[in-house]
Amino acid sequence: MEEQKGGLLVVMAHPDDESMGTGGIVLRHTRNGIATHLICATYGEAGWMGKPPGAKKEDLAEIRAKELEEAAAALAISGVELWDYPDGGVPQSDQQQITQRIWEQISRLRPRAVVGWGPDGGYGHPDHIAMGACTDAAVAAMTEGDRPALYHIAFDQSVVEFYGEAMHLTGNNHSLPLQAQDQVDVVIELDADEVMMKLRAIDCHRSQLEDWRIAIRDHPQLMQRGYGHEPYITVSSRTPGLTDGGLLGEFV
Ligand SMILES: [Zn+2]
Repeated sequence: MEEQKGGLLVVMAHPDDESMGTGGIVLRHTRNGIATHLICATYGEAGWMGKPPGAKKEDLAEIRAKELEEAAAALAISGVELWDYPDGGVPQSDQQQITQRIWEQISRLRPRAVVGWGPDGGYGHPDHIAMGACTDAAVAAMTEGDRPALYHIAFDQSVVEFYGEAMHLTGNNHSLPLQAQDQVDVVIELDADEVMMKLRAIDCHRSQLEDWRIAIRDHPQLMQRGYGHEPYITVSSRTPGLTDGGLLGEFV
């Protein structure tokens, strides 16, 4: 089958990044018929939380690959490239090779826009930071006429406050060391239906659901404010901002 070119490419580090981090922007685009592909660098095999009940630690990679498959279907993602770099060991892996492989996917898929992690890695996760840097390098290595627009996931003050409140639902006062950006360029504001669709994608990652992610299902307003608000920084774009339909400017 001929690949649909000119879509969106999301480059992440772990199964669940695509839903918890970029679920909204992916849904907004796939629901509008924009082909969206995902690269995920690791199987997330280090994220053992003793879940789901009855699961065995040595099966986590397989469990998370299956969860990713379900979440990708929930987000209507067209194709997933799941790579087997070690979870927690992306920065120690061959950065040139990772960059080359991302470059090859960009060359094959010809996306109009790429979304990746920024230099803050969201909350400083080394795998996120490394994948973000490789993604930036791969985009930069494209010849100018073929180079897609590039966006980074970014947290603003309202996202940081949301995580604090959401984790507090289950009495967890240790919030993630999220770094709020002073300025973000693009904010995807989801409607109530899109928030529920994003929740369904997040919920596919059963092995990774912290208690607050379960408790929040009873707090639609908090979900709307948190899951429904996805800020991004525009690294490079010839058509900045969002279209009237709420898509990235490249998809006008
Ligand atoms: Zn991650």
